[in-house]
Amino acid sequence: MVQVVNSNSFKGISPKDLMEATYQASGNFQVRAFFEAKEEIIKAGKYSEEKFYEILDAMIDAETERKLVLEKLMVKKPLFLEEIVKEIKDFPAENVIRDVIYLKEQGYIQEHVEIKTKTVVKKIKGEEKEVEVKEYFYRYQLKEIPTEQYFEPVSIVFQAGVCCQCGWCSSVCPVNAVEVTADTLEIDRDICMKCGLCFSVCPRSFSIDQANENIKKLDKSLKWSDKTGAYINAYSASTTKDNIKKVRQDGGIVTSILEYLLDNNLVDAIVAVQHSEELWRPEPVIVENVKDLYKTGGTKYANSPSLTIIDQCKKYEKIAFVGVPCMMKAIEKGSMFPSGLPFFKNIKYKIGLFCMESFPYDRIINLAKEQFDKDINELTKMNIGGGKFIINLKSGEQMDVPLKEVQKYARDNCHFCEDLTSDYADISVGSIGSQDGWSSVITRSKDADKLYNDIVKAGLIESKSLKDVKPGQFLVEKIGGIKRKKCKSINLKENQNGH
Ligand SMILES: Cc1cc2nc3c(=O)[nH]c(=O)nc-3n(C[C@H](O)[C@H](O)[C@H](O)COP(=O)(O)OP(=O)(O)OC[C@H]3O[C@@H](n4cnc5c(N)ncnc54)[C@H](O)[C@@H]3O)c2cc1C
Ligand code: SF4
Ligand code: SF4
Ligand code: SF4
Repeated sequence: MVQVVNSNSFKGISPKDLMEATYQASGNFQVRAFFEAKEEIIKAGKYSEEKFYEILDAMIDAETERKLVLEKLMVKKPLFLEEIVKEIKDFPAENVIRDVIYLKEQGYIQEHVEIKTKTVVKKIKGEEKEVEVKEYFYRYQLKEIPTEQYFEPVSIVFQAGVCCQCGWCSSVCPVNAVEVTADTLEIDRDICMKCGLCFSVCPRSFSIDQANENIKKLDKSLKWSDKTGAYINAYSASTTKDNIKKVRQDGGIVTSILEYLLDNNLVDAIVAVQHSEELWRPEPVIVENVKDLYKTGGTKYANSPSLTIIDQCKKYEKIAFVGVPCMMKAIEKGSMFPSGLPFFKNIKYKIGLFCMESFPYDRIINLAKEQFDKDINELTKMNIGGGKFIINLKSGEQMDVPLKEVQKYARDNCHFCEDLTSDYADISVGSIGSQDGWSSVITRSKDADKLYNDIVKAGLIESKSLKDVKPGQFLVEKIGGIKRKKCKSINLKENQNGH
């Protein structure tokens, strides 16, 4: 997880400057909207009075810090984030990076993007060829005339056709004004207090990728890949447990990790996904024991708005969450904005899946019918591998079609997704790169790597380095790069017009 440090004490700032910044911060629209809705928020029951003040306090602190960062950024030329960090030493580097990105969204800072093309030599089908690659450089500068931006409720994200239906906004909204399902998003205008918190935490409202790259690069223990994000190690692994082999999708690594977390009391519960009453329609569930955990094994390719139920996990001190990359990013964003205080501090472990695309449930039914002439209820497994979409049937038969034949069934909003490998997870798991019955695993922090190796030592997982298997890390990087390249860019206003 990106750890954004809260600078509760403003050491080294003069009392006058601090007073002025705090005064300005208290006028911020988001702080005001939240403060003025205190009664409604507490009545809605999502946040207790204590939690309300904790959030408010963190919002005022973060906004005060941003006003001070603005003061110190009175330079006219555009600077890289790392240059700004060197310039402003009063706050932790992570905070300064976070602040600059938020100040840009608030309308005070302008982002300049420079694209340079360079020629590199690549091996394509065994032959060395010169190819042109684009490099992006981001610089930031104070706006000549700042115009404070109010954050709209996330209905604008949905109307723009870019909402990934993760459900995070509905869990975070302090007055329960947002309802998200696998296909819809509705905001109750009579309840919404226009605080913009949902917009601040939404993975599709504005990008945190620049901030993330710069923050992760501060941690010298991490390796960095432009295609698959920050990591400690990459492995290929398979479960040793027969019970898990019966329910797993690939290596059974996700279920093995989760079983270890439950058995060792490292979590009280897990948010995962199982079949609903309708087979292959995914349903997010809260699981407290290993027996129920096994019901969640295997991939359901229809999307599940799993983050909608985080709000129901308040009674647990520590939970693990399993989900696709867009959800990992959503949780991360909620721990960065608006204040660096995570909304749900009990999310201790994020297990992210690789994901090229997901499908609306209705289109999964059509896919089975049109591509295989099968009823969805006849399927026991769906899988993607070796460029094919593969199904297994109750009869024991296996059928496949080229992956390109099924891409038309994918969700349109997945075309705005640049993340294959759950860059924002603690541990990422997927099939690309490993042999059948094995998973590729990426650990993304020292703690996550230690946890993974503890599970290997406990004998639950058999593990090799991803570098030592074929096709291995090379293919993960390659497909990760393709996904980044194909990703459509989000411009809420333009997308909205075209919708
Ligand atoms: C929509 C989707 C698309 C994917 N696309 C790719 C891909 O392109 N390339 C690739 O390498 N891997 C992809 N994966 C990941 C892959 O299918 C396996 O989930 C992964 O390899 C883990 O296998 P495992 O045997 O360790 O998991 P298991 O031990 O079988 O556990 C599977 C876990 O996945 C969770 N899960 C199942 N369906 C969903 C869902 N719809 N949403 C959220 N969580 C779910 C379950 O809760 C369970 O905890 C995708 C997964 C999903 C859900
Ligand atoms: S819907 Fe969004 S803007 Fe409205 S109250 Fe909820 S979080 Fe705030
Ligand atoms: S938080 Fe998730 S569900 Fe809500 S608008 Fe953003 S992408 Fe959609
Ligand atoms: S492709 Fe991206 S947006 Fe679509 S389900 Fe996967 S992670 Fe979410």
